[in-house]
This record gives sequence, structure tokens and C-alpha cells, in this order.
Amino acid sequence: MRLSRFLLPSLREAPREAEIVSHRLMLRAGMIRQQSAGIYSWLPLGYRVLRKIEAIVREEQNRSGAIELLMPTIQSAELWRESGRYDAYGKEMLRISDRHEREMLFGPTNEEMITDIFRSYVRSYRDLPMNLYHIQWKFRDEVRPRFGVMRSREFLMKDAYSFDLDQAGARHSYNKMFVAYLRTFARLGLKSIPMRADTGPIGGDLSHEFIILASTGESEVFCHRDYLDFDVPPADTDFESRDGLQAIVDRWTSLYAATSEMHDAGEFAGVPEPDRMSARGIEVGHIFYFGTKYSAPMGAKVTGPDGVEREVHMGSYGIGPSRLVAAIIEASHDEAGIIWPEAIAPFRAAVLNLRVGDAATDAACGDLYRGLEAAGVDTLYDDRDERPGGKFATADLIGIPWQVIVGPKGLAEGKVELKRRATGERELVTPADALRRIVG
Ligand code: ATP
Ligand code: MG
Repeated sequence: MRLSRFLLPSLREAPREAEIVSHRLMLRAGMIRQQSAGIYSWLPLGYRVLRKIEAIVREEQNRSGAIELLMPTIQSAELWRESGRYDAYGKEMLRISDRHEREMLFGPTNEEMITDIFRSYVRSYRDLPMNLYHIQWKFRDEVRPRFGVMRSREFLMKDAYSFDLDQAGARHSYNKMFVAYLRTFARLGLKSIPMRADTGPIGGDLSHEFIILASTGESEVFCHRDYLDFDVPPADTDFESRDGLQAIVDRWTSLYAATSEMHDAGEFAGVPEPDRMSARGIEVGHIFYFGTKYSAPMGAKVTGPDGVEREVHMGSYGIGPSRLVAAIIEASHDEAGIIWPEAIAPFRAAVLNLRVGDAATDAACGDLYRGLEAAGVDTLYDDRDERPGGKFATADLIGIPWQVIVGPKGLAEGKVELKRRATGERELVTPADALRRIVG
């Protein structure tokens, strides 16, 4: 992408209303635009990052055996009356009526709808286990939307729903998501810690929140320091092995880790003092097992091997890709701006033309840009007629991992400068070497 042709409304100063660094940087980098309280447009740069996060979430859901579908954002109140949640949900639910005065709502979550889909098509234990998920916008009329997309009213959620014949099966389904979540957050460059959690209005008795540590997090958390050094399960983990997955989950739940709602000061005191960590954290995912809470009132049953019908055991599993954009920035930035992990950077490389209009510089930049794009590297070519200082600042602000700085002085010696955003290291190399290094 040529920057001169892109929409990148970056700002020198952060708007005053932005309280936390991720919100400030997202506004300064021209990633989002607030349309009304807690409702944002994703501008081109922000949307690229959101889509990359979504793709990693999707890959890990698929790896664990979950199946993607897509449910609508607008739901009918009728379904929610079946579960009893239409009245229970309260003011967070945005209620709408259509031209026929039918009561509708903008979905805050999808347990009812997925249970309806399941009961309409699945009748036999032979079709289980099944885990269905979608990645769809949700609306919750939060009392205090704040911190930009960290706590917004409209936000993107990956929500998965598992169906099993019995509790032991549901436990395996839960463990699959547990392991998929560990892998997902690690691939996003985050250290996540699963913490015992309150089940809240969704109910049930087995629940973990996946928390990343950040000083601006809204949750107060307590955990054993060793979690920070735990190894994440590899890509070839066998998700079908019940014992294998249980062993991973047992290890990841063997040490103390709880959010303030579930914190037990007495038990925490048993953790050796140097290992005790109390910190602030951001909830990026939440998994629940809730048994027959929805299948019972909504009549979602399957026939077991003995020919007897039983209500299915369910769980639900959420990740917030839009909150993750902000969470990753909280975890990875410096004075100059965002430092994107390569896997989700809006562009992996930038080519900075320091003398637009100089024939040799333009030609070298054009060659590099086309070479990188041809090798499959998302590249931003800063071809604007601007001072070098402004170009360096923009590339650092928007966090591009690899930056190739091209000017007439270097080119006279056949060299360009290759800069890593994360470390600030710079090296003089030939254009061909720069390309080779970035393509990797
Ligand atoms: P919180 O306690 O932060 O309000 P929650 O417990 O209501 O979250 P869930 O219902 O479990 O959240 O939703 C699953 C995921 O969706 C959360 O882990 C989070 O990543 C994301 N999420 C929830 N609410 C919001 C919001 N208002 N803005 C952005 N993301 C959100
Ligand atoms: Mg909430």
C-alpha cells in the first residue's frame, strides 16, 4: 500500500478524553474513530489488525475441532423468553421493536440462538461432541463504556458453544477450548493466565477467565509468579486425547490464580512470599461450563446409546478480538508508539523514501516495495512528500516491525538502512539483503 493513497489520519497529539495508553495510541495512529459513546468505526489501519487477530483466533478454534457458522446480530425476544433471560438480562440489552411491533434485540451473546439451532437438527449422541462458534458483533449497553475498544458497547466477540452427552464429555470440550485459548493468546504475543472465575449471570460451576497482566487492567488479580514461565501447548497437541488435555489443564490450574471476585486470601497466603504476585489484569477470554442451564428449559435433547433421551451438557467460550487490539497495545508499546508483534502487525514492513522525487531513491524504493509485496509481505510504502523526521515518527507510531529507510546518501554506497521497531536496532545492508531478511 502506498501511504499517499491510504487513509491514515494520524494525530500528533492524543485527544484529551483518552485515559489509557492503548486508547491514546489507537486514536493517534488513526486506527479507530468514535461514532457515539462506546461505538467505533474501524479505520483501515485498525481494521487490518482486527482481521489478523480474528484469523489467528479462527485458526486455533478450527484446530481444536470447533466448527464455524454465522448467526445474526439481531435476535427475537421470543427465544430469550424461553430461557427466562429476556427479563433477567436488564439494561445492558439493547431492545428494539420492528415495524410490526415485534420485540427484537441486538444480541449481547448467543446461548439461546445456538441452542435453538442445535435442537432443530441434532438428535443423536452419535453427532456429539459438537462445538459451534461464530465471530460476530455484539452489543451491550455498558453503564460505563470507556478506554476506547477495551470496554465498548458494540464489540466483536468469538463465541463458541459446546454440546455433549454428559459431564465427562463436556469436561473434555471445556479442556479443548482451554488449550486453544492458551495457544491463541501466545500466538498474539501475549502471556495469558487462566484464573478461576465467577460464573456471573451465565451461571454454572466451572469457569476460567484468561487474563493478561497490565497496569491499566480493570481486574485485580492474584497469582503464582511461575505462570509467566509456563510453556504453551504445541501446535501438534492431540485435542482428541482426553488424558493428554486433562494433564495440560491440570498443570495450568495447579498453582494459585484468581481474580478478586474469587480471591481467597488465606489460600494465597500459602504461596511462598517471593512467588506471590498481585497485579492488575485485562480479561481477554472467558470459558464456562454450565450443564443443562439452557438445554433444559429449551428442550435440547439427544438420544443416548441406551435409547434414552437426555438434555445436552453445554459450555460457552468467549474471546474479544476488538478488546484484544487494545490489550496487545497495552502490553507492547514505548514512548514512540505501538510495537506490533509480527503476526498481527497491520503491515509487516514499511519502506521509507527519504527523498521523494530523486530518481535513484524512487527507483530503489519502488523495487523494494514491489519485491516485498511479491514475496507476500504486507508493506506500507511511505511515498509522501514529507520530512524524514515525520516519516520515522509515523512508522514508529503505527508500530511497523521492519522498516527499510532509503535515501540518496546510503544508495550512493549501494546501501539502505534496515530498522527493527522492537529493539530500535539499525543496520546498513544492500537492498537485496534487506528484502531477504524481511522475507525470512
Ligand atoms: P467483562 O467482565 O470485562 O465485562 P464479561 O465477563 O462480560 O467481560 P463475557 O461475557 O465473558 O465478558 O464475554 C467474552 C469476552 O468478550 C470477554 O472476555 C471480553 O474479551 C469480551 N468483551 C466483553 N465485554 C466487552 C466490552 N464491553 N467491550 C469489549 N470486549 C468485551
Ligand atoms: Mg461484561
